[in-house]
Order: sequence, then structure tokens, then C-alpha cells
Amino acid sequence: MIIFNTKQEIKSYLNTQNQANKTIGFVPTMGALHEGHLSLIKKAKKKNDLVVVSIFVNPTQFDNKEDLVKYPKTFENDTKLLESVSCDVLFFPSVEEIYEDNISSEKFDFDGLEHQMEGKFRDGHFDGVGTIVKTLFEIVAPHRAYFGQKDFQQLQIIKKMVKKHRLNVKIKGCPIFREKDGLAMSSRNTRLSKDRRAAAPFIYKTLKKARKKFGIENAIKVTEWVENQFKKHPFLELEYFTIADEKTLKTVKKKESNKKYRAFIAVFAGEIRLIDNIRLKND
Ligand code: AMP
Repeated sequence: MIIFNTKQEIKSYLNTQNQANKTIGFVPTMGALHEGHLSLIKKAKKKNDLVVVSIFVNPTQFDNKEDLVKYPKTFENDTKLLESVSCDVLFFPSVEEIYEDNISSEKFDFDGLEHQMEGKFRDGHFDGVGTIVKTLFEIVAPHRAYFGQKDFQQLQIIKKMVKKHRLNVKIKGCPIFREKDGLAMSSRNTRLSKDRRAAAPFIYKTLKKARKKFGIENAIKVTEWVENQFKKHPFLELEYFTIADEKTLKTVKKKESNKKYRAFIAVFAGEIRLIDNIRLKND
């Protein structure tokens, strides 16, 4: 695996590869890699001649300063994991290399997707995401880029950005990779206390029950039920639960048979914020 720290060096290397007609698959990450990230890389390896992974903890997408400072950094282990899945290129730039002396976001219009769910609770988050992903796309110029459904809203927003800005890259969504007990893998899981880590699978269990209920009850009833489940919980505090249209991400009011729905959840386990989602049946 070749590691690059500067835009210029990686650009020039990938340019040569492009001229040799190599296809490039790209997986942007913030590091502290786990099996979820690796599942994206493995998928990219199957379809592309060359796989590029970036590790960059992007300051402009953090609304919470402490979360940014405490974001886990495990570079040595990350490189080992990347080698284990035969990643070809790692881009690991500094904040200065990306933002120079202006750490700020571009303003985006994602046709309202940015105002739902995460957008309501994390101010400026998706402008930060749009800014870094667009910048990385310009540097790496990938043919395909891989994103996890774990961050489903982010995935839809990136697809929207690619369409609106006519970027020449195919966006591939990948399924959520979970721990054996059902907890969605996340770099933040390592920061959970023992009690909270033990309690956290309750999130996915509740999502699965909500999926079942959605077959027989309306979205408002299911939402109330989920909210009640968390009211009694000693370790987990619900920030939001919502059942939304996959396309618009707007909360569903009345089920329509031609639409796809998904349930989305954000929970605080102490100071650690966890998100998850599940596809719902719509019969
Ligand atoms: P992050 O490093 O958290 O920014 O994640 C980098 C990419 O990996 C994003 O596209 C995430 O959606 C994806 N990802 C993170 N966790 C998982 C998971 N448990 N399953 C699938 N994809 C994931």
C-alpha cells in the first residue's frame, strides 16, 4: 500500500494510473477503522483496479468540539487493517493540507435533505460533509465511491450532490455492518463505558420491533412506542426516532404503497451519540 500525505503527490500518482486506464474505487473514512469500513473496501476491490481509502477527521462536519477532539485515532492499526484487505492507496492528509488557512464549509443546497434528522440536530454538519467529499472527489477523481447505509442521510445527500453538481462518479451504498449483538459498528463504540456498551444493542432490538409494528400500526403510534421504550432506559437517552420516506427523508404522515420507508434513530449513550436505521416493509 502506498501512503500519500499531499494532494499534489496523490493527484499525480492517480493521474498516471488513470492514463493507464485503471478504474479507481474510493472509500472516504475518518479512520479508527473496523469491519464496517473493511466491508466497503472489499466491495470496492471487487469492482475496481485500484482502491483508494482516505483517513481524514474532517473538522468542519463536527458541531461538537469535544467529539472532534476525542475522536479515536488509531493510525497504526488502521494501516494494518488496510493491508489485510489489500488496499492499494491510502490518502492521509493533515487539516492544513486540505483547508490551508481557511477551515470553513461551502454552503450547499441538497433540496431539503439537509434539514431533516441529523441536519436538525447537528448544525452545519452536512455543509461540512459536502465540502470534504467534494474536495476529496476533486483530488482522487474516482470512478466509483462507496458509502455505508449506516449514515443513510449522508449517502442520500452525497447522491444528491453528485447529481446537482454533475460530478463524474458513481455512488455505491453498502449495507450496515453490525457486531454479533446487533450494535451497528462505529468508531465511536470504543468510547462507550462498559455499562453503556452492554446496553447499546437495545437500539437495534428496538428498531427491529418497530419494523414489526409498522406492519400493523401507523407511524405516529410506532414512534410513540419507541419513545416510551427509551423513557424507561437507565443508560440510553433518545434524541430522535422517525419513520421517513427514503427518498425525501421527510417524516411519513400517511403510508403510501408506492413509497419506501426507513426508521432512523439517534441515541445518546452518556456523551457518545449513536445512530442507526432500518429498512421497513411497506405492504
Ligand atoms: P466514518 O469513518 O465513520 O466517516 O465512515 C466512513 C464510511 O464508512 C461511511 O460511508 C460510513 O457510512 C461507513 N460506515 C461506518 N460504519 C459502518 C458500518 N457499521 N457498516 C457499513 N458502513 C459503515
